[in-house]
Amino acid sequence: MSSMTEKDYYAILGVPENASTDEIRKAFQQKARKLHPDVNKAPDAEERFKEVSEAYAVLSDEDKRRRYDAMRSGNVFAQSSPTGPAGGYGYGGYGSPFGGPVGWGGFSTQRRTRAAAFNPRAGQDVVYQLDLDPKTAAAGCRRGVTYQRYVSCDACHGTGSTEVDHAKACPTCHGTGTIDVDLSQVFGGLGFGAMRMQCPECEGTGKVVADPCDRCHGSGRVLSGSEAVVDIPANSHDGTEVRIKGMGNAGTNGAPAGDLVVRVGVPAERLSPESAMGFQVIGFIIPFVFFGWFFNVLDVLVPLMAIPVVLGAVFIVRGGLGKHNRVWWKNAGRYVVNGLSNGFLLALFLGLLFSCAQSAGRTAMYYGPGW
Ligand SMILES: [Zn+2]
Ligand SMILES: [Zn+2]
Repeated sequence: MSSMTEKDYYAILGVPENASTDEIRKAFQQKARKLHPDVNKAPDAEERFKEVSEAYAVLSDEDKRRRYDAMRSGNVFAQSSPTGPAGGYGYGGYGSPFGGPVGWGGFSTQRRTRAAAFNPRAGQDVVYQLDLDPKTAAAGCRRGVTYQRYVSCDACHGTGSTEVDHAKACPTCHGTGTIDVDLSQVFGGLGFGAMRMQCPECEGTGKVVADPCDRCHGSGRVLSGSEAVVDIPANSHDGTEVRIKGMGNAGTNGAPAGDLVVRVGVPAERLSPESAMGFQVIGFIIPFVFFGWFFNVLDVLVPLMAIPVVLGAVFIVRGGLGKHNRVWWKNAGRYVVNGLSNGFLLALFLGLLFSCAQSAGRTAMYYGPGW
């Protein structure tokens, strides 16, 4: 009888030890489909299915995998028995000690269509950065842009199915979207328990595409070059966005598409990094002025604040504001607000601390020493 701790999860899944998470997931999908007790009536299918699930549960989790690897290499219990099973942990002879799982059944499923989750999800927006000179941005313009995006698959009209638009319950999780893996018997000393995890076959939706389309492999969308004509309105500036509905990435399995967002960039309008930092410093100070006034300690704070204020001003002047730039104040305002929000949190914290100390002091005085 081989103890659970002797299992070679890499061999069970048929992946190399340096396999990526994605490779591990794909290997599990393939094996789980073949071994599922509903499909495979071989007497040991259920046992093997459990084994494969267990291997996946450990190897797909970065933390568990690290501990498992450490254990295999003997780093965890090295002292007890580095060469053999004498200490109860038989790590000797890993390689392929279990003739069974290694290359078992051949798994010549490489050419088969991979399992496809039926997972309708809205497509994401595609952001296109369009740099313009200040004059063009101010006048407005019409531009054609070409970009990459996912488009709805022609072959299956975006459904992901070849014949009919339908999805069936996932055979791996019976439509529940999760699989239960009992790891309580495994590596008892390492603290793995029973766990429920998202089913990798259907990506947690509980459904798979019954007859996946060859072209899009069941997702319902393919990557393609796209074109759009975009009208940039007059008085545009750095950061102006123009949105074109439905021209972003197509959704999966017929879900709605995202938008194309054309973001105008006017490099000449941007503040230099030095000026930006200066404005941020000024913004950072503002909450402290307020708190200083509120707690009536402005006279103490002013000398302290003078240093960063002067520093900020120097940065701003050194960075230059761009004399031909009519919207520098907009960018400046953004940086001031950014600094202000950071300063606010710190000032709030210090303010609370200060008021606590004050009331504590008052209490102490009231009761007098000796209490
Ligand atoms: Zn599933
Ligand atoms: Zn398709």
